[in-house]
Amino acid sequence: MTKYISVTWTEGISEQETNVLTHTVDSVLKWLYLRRPSVLHHPPIMVHLFGNWVIPELVSTDVYWGTQWYIDTSYNDALQRVIGPVFLDLTRQEPWQQLDPHFDMALITQDLTDLTVRVAELQPDHYALGTSVPGSTAVMSVHRIRSLADEHVRELALSRLVRHHLGHVLGLPRPTRDHKTTRMGLETHCTNRCVMRHTDTVEELAKLALEESEMGWHFCEQCTRELHSVVARYAFNWS
Ligand SMILES: [Zn+2]
Ligand SMILES: [Zn+2]
Repeated sequence: MTKYISVTWTEGISEQETNVLTHTVDSVLKWLYLRRPSVLHHPPIMVHLFGNWVIPELVSTDVYWGTQWYIDTSYNDALQRVIGPVFLDLTRQEPWQQLDPHFDMALITQDLTDLTVRVAELQPDHYALGTSVPGSTAVMSVHRIRSLADEHVRELALSRLVRHHLGHVLGLPRPTRDHKTTRMGLETHCTNRCVMRHTDTVEELAKLALEESEMGWHFCEQCTRELHSVVARYAFNWS
């Protein structure tokens, strides 16, 4: 069975941002497949672009009727942020996740926090660029990235954010890896020169994005090995 990555984005995400999102995910997968020619004809992990979707028949039921519903339900007016843990829970509990287990990635225009409401209230200045449940689901925001002045840097930063969270969605770095990692809440991070390093702020994101743009491939050797084994695992399941 092919495993899908379902990719959605909210209203207001520009065509250019959509292109960076889809191109980044595609190019990571393609790079991996080109190094394992046996899977090229039947890619074990594929992308489903749903974009900003709505199911008119469900609007009257008031739940899971479209991308905007996830935002409306997880947005906190006082904090002016989407509450990441709520958004991720809604995504993981959606009915079609049970029907057909898949990975999820969402790009949103709203500001985001990776804290629960109660903790976020104590740290009103804190924000997250993205947050994820490793091996499953990620939500990323363009809100802070849009404050970067340079268009090229904005593009690199968004691409870096997407690549990082694609890594998390595919389960990187493995929690069982006992070296070159640090723990941050649910997420484990790589400490090599690697896209799986953590970034707290948009300035840090821009800095690492520029630094890594000189690397042809953005994952370190250890993370790359883990990516290959994810592909191998799903390729094996397929046959
Ligand atoms: Zn991370
Ligand atoms: Zn790494």
